[in-house]
Amino acid sequence: MHSLGLSSTHPSWFATRSIGQSCENRPILLHFTSRFAAEPGGTLLIGGMHGDERATVLLLLSFMDHLRPGEQSPLPPRLGILPLINPDGYLRNTRANARGVDLNRNFETGWSAASEEPPGAFPLSEPESRALRDCIVTQRPERIVTLHWALGELDADGPQSTSLAEAMWNALTPQQRIPYRLRLSDSRQVSPSTPCPGSLGQWCGEGLRYPDGTAPAIVTLELPHAPHLPRPLSLPEDHLEQLHRAWKRDARAYLKAVEGPVHAMLRAAYGV
Ligand SMILES: [Zn+2]
Repeated sequence: MHSLGLSSTHPSWFATRSIGQSCENRPILLHFTSRFAAEPGGTLLIGGMHGDERATVLLLLSFMDHLRPGEQSPLPPRLGILPLINPDGYLRNTRANARGVDLNRNFETGWSAASEEPPGAFPLSEPESRALRDCIVTQRPERIVTLHWALGELDADGPQSTSLAEAMWNALTPQQRIPYRLRLSDSRQVSPSTPCPGSLGQWCGEGLRYPDGTAPAIVTLELPHAPHLPRPLSLPEDHLEQLHRAWKRDARAYLKAVEGPVHAMLRAAYGV
């Protein structure tokens, strides 16, 4: 299904369609349950917005492979999975897309030409961000989880996202919480979420309103820096280089260590 060397057994209750194409005409694939297709709402899981954050893609594919309908709910949940928004970046192992744009700075809300990461010539200048925007405004998911690597946090954008973030946090044991921190954008939080200009989180959390006036809950799930260590209060300047070196050394061990807790959080995200 994926032409990028990604394998997944795709349980038969997932259908697949393309929501659009990348700059270099690679399809952006949505895997979804029939109930997700039949009505608006449900939960949308997103990975691979930054092409070099491979763990986000591989964990969503493994999540699909592990999913089974629960005993109490014989029908699959309303669930859509976009494991790889930025296929060109994945192929190049770059954060940006093929035109050098950081897709997570290319959305409308708070978009800034002065963004530290290249934001594109104008909001939604990139086909990948437009495809994702169209998918969200058409499907109107109630909950969105977008995976990134690797600040070790659950970051909720907008007050409507608090209960989703808390449900995901509560799915973890105290031990599993060690490499993460919880950031809510409401007054109960000591370290509130800092908006990233033009990010998907900022658009969904603050800019987007569905026709009925509601907004989706959105949580950015930043995978851990190191699976078993407490998240450092401040990350070293060569944080990303360190991560890439560790990933090259032993990607399999990293995935094995983070998979269980991540799957538990994703199950909680569609169960709430
Ligand atoms: Zn990222």
